[in-house]
Amino acid sequence: MVRIIEMLIPKSNKKTRPGIKRVPRSITIHETDNEGIGANALAHAKLQYNGNIRLASWHLQVDDEPEVYLSIPYDEVAYAAGDGKGPGNMYSIHIEVCVNRDGNYFKTVNHTVEVVRYLLNKFPSITEVVQHHKWNGKNCPRYLRSGTKGISWQQFLQKVAKGNGGSDTPQVPPKDKTPNHLFKIGEKVRIKKSATYYATGEGIPAYIKGRTDIVLQKSANRVLLKGINSWVKTEDLEVVRAAAALAIDGYMGPATIKALQRYFGTPIDGVISRPSLLIKAMQKWLGTQQDGIISEPYSTMVAALQRRYQTPVDGKISRPSLVVKELQRRLNRGKL
Ligand SMILES: [Zn+2]
Repeated sequence: MVRIIEMLIPKSNKKTRPGIKRVPRSITIHETDNEGIGANALAHAKLQYNGNIRLASWHLQVDDEPEVYLSIPYDEVAYAAGDGKGPGNMYSIHIEVCVNRDGNYFKTVNHTVEVVRYLLNKFPSITEVVQHHKWNGKNCPRYLRSGTKGISWQQFLQKVAKGNGGSDTPQVPPKDKTPNHLFKIGEKVRIKKSATYYATGEGIPAYIKGRTDIVLQKSANRVLLKGINSWVKTEDLEVVRAAAALAIDGYMGPATIKALQRYFGTPIDGVISRPSLLIKAMQKWLGTQQDGIISEPYSTMVAALQRRYQTPVDGKISRPSLVVKELQRRLNRGKL
């Protein structure tokens, strides 16, 4: 297992650590191209820490030792892509893979795999792992691109996907706790936000996560989804159940409050607090004062709702209430 050690470039060094905040979207792999003895991760981290004379910087440097050095926080820009203000510099986390000839390249790559997997897990915003070559055409990472040291770029990505690159002992995949019979063919399912890899090993892009899809086919611990035509592990899926219709009882109970919270996109807890984000959203919708509180004995918001739904206007919610009944009817139809 690797350990990430912070040796951050001083903030005063604006040249290589500009301090520009961003949310990372990709991971870029480099090789140092320095085969000199001792040109390891610590040496590169020190170079950055002491002020690299080149206008170049990167986030992490990895070698065959378990210590990986972090020079720039992940949410800050580093200048390593050679694409100016392009997406490489502005939105990527840059990793330098050391190639010093006194180091073990295979181990170094395995450590890199471990770091990449850690970052993919830490930042759901990251959708791709790419070569420096992608950003400006440079032949970098040289050995991974040519495969001359025994590991090709494709094999590197496979190690990232399978997760068997980092540790010295092969990792046992987590036990699948979701029985397959929970999923039926033709059923609507949602891909969990926590899902990272397809059953076939490729990374699941961020835009796929949280999507709903239909089960087309089933196998041992995976199902084939119709919309994306991909096999997804059952542990990464949940069944989407149609929301039960609200009872039209005129009472503002937890189920009605939850349905309103879902409709207005506020936190769903089934409770109206004082003040309440839900009430605030409803006040905005109805064009009344937005204080988040249903005032008593008369609420202008309730009165506005009663006028809108053409129920008797008294500015209060009775138990049961005609205006709540109308709200429930409309919630069941999906449009207020
Ligand atoms: Zn590079």
